[in-house]
Amino acid sequence: MAINPEILALHAEMQRWRRQIHQHPETAFEEDATAQLIMQQLRQAGIEVHQGLAETGVVGVLRRGRSNNSIALRADMDALYIQEQNSFAHASCHQGKMHACGHDGHCAMLLGAACHLAKHGGFDGTVYFIFQPAEECRAGAHQMISEGLFEQFPAQRVFGMHNFPDVPVGHFAVKTGPMMASFDCFEITFHGQATHAAMPHLGNDVLVAAAHLVTQLQTIVSRRIDPADAAVVSVTQIHGGNTWNALPDSAVVRGTFRSFKKAVREQLEQGIRQLTQSVAQGFGIHADILFNPENPGYPVTINSSVETASAIRAAVAIAGEHRVNTAPIPSMGAEDFAFMLEQKPGCYIWIGNGNSSGNCLLHNPHYDFNDEILPLGAAYWVKLVENELPK
Ligand SMILES: [Zn+2]
Ligand SMILES: [Zn+2]
Repeated sequence: MAINPEILALHAEMQRWRRQIHQHPETAFEEDATAQLIMQQLRQAGIEVHQGLAETGVVGVLRRGRSNNSIALRADMDALYIQEQNSFAHASCHQGKMHACGHDGHCAMLLGAACHLAKHGGFDGTVYFIFQPAEECRAGAHQMISEGLFEQFPAQRVFGMHNFPDVPVGHFAVKTGPMMASFDCFEITFHGQATHAAMPHLGNDVLVAAAHLVTQLQTIVSRRIDPADAAVVSVTQIHGGNTWNALPDSAVVRGTFRSFKKAVREQLEQGIRQLTQSVAQGFGIHADILFNPENPGYPVTINSSVETASAIRAAVAIAGEHRVNTAPIPSMGAEDFAFMLEQKPGCYIWIGNGNSSGNCLLHNPHYDFNDEILPLGAAYWVKLVENELPK
């Protein structure tokens, strides 16, 4: 591995930031202490700091030389509503909140890269360091964009990085095209006539209708989508009724659907609509359908080819050719960096977090970001900047 000694020298400090953020996890749009830590370190490094986009968003701006070229590097700051089950010293001290997706590590790696670049330069142009809130379910990237992110900070290209437990330590994985699926939610409410449980014929049983719908929805992927296309429809919640001997007047079915193509995404939505209406009609009840009631729905994360080639070059320079997988299987997980990739060409790369015992899957109460990879991630960012904005 070819990591610059000055970046290796930042390892202890990156680990300190990472553990500080891990111990004090903050969820969507409440990342105040995290943003404070980031701004303090950026300012200390002499980097221009802007705040206020999407409530807690932070953007650092670093200019060198005379070139008009510019790139944006993005890290996410938010934690999840998960009760941490680790017992090490830096475990979460906020009840019910936890950095179970490694965004603490993403912040530390980007901060490390920013400090290094501020001190040593090595590029010609402008680097925007984007620290965004609310990646998990709340589309913080979308909010920063709608509040003027790219008008205020007109980067030509955008780059993102996420740790991935399935990828070994010291390795990267990245490809052109789809990396992560689109992410949509649905909420279906059946309305009927409540009745005594002993006299179902005097009302409409919305619970039986909900049960039918759940099984019907399974046929969308198996019978409507081309088997060569990837798609998922998952029902994740069913709510209705509150006692033993009465049938309720409403039932709610909630879930999510994912795919890698716009056309498939539309087919899934249409399938959910049609089956819901037909079940409602068959049972003589009324259905309300809401799509994405809490966020705008995440698009497919699609890497553009030129920027992906550049990301691969940087990863190979740091990790070596045989440690960069350029044909990973895309994940059905989703990522709101997709909104940035809709605006600008760019690339989203996975850095291996390893899958040894402590490094379990993302969103697991035992997960912890692997501090060993901090210099590797920071070195990738630095190399990418040097390649993208050559002196
Ligand atoms: Zn996550
Ligand atoms: Zn994440």
